[in-house]
Amino acid sequence: MIRAIKHLIDGPDPGDVLFECRDCGTSLGTGSETCPECGSDGVVRYEL
Ligand SMILES: [Zn+2]
Repeated sequence: MIRAIKHLIDGPDPGDVLFECRDCGTSLGTGSETCPECGSDGVVRYEL
C-alpha cells in the first residue's frame, strides 16, 4: 500500500519527457511538434 502511494506522489517515471504548448499550455503527446489546439509550433520540452 505504501509503495502504491509513493508511486502516485512521484508521478511519471524518471526520464519521461513532457511536451507542452508554450502558447496555450496544452499537454502534447510525446514527440509532438505542433499543438493540436491552437496550431502553434511553439512547443516546449520538459525532461522530468
Ligand atoms: Zn497550443
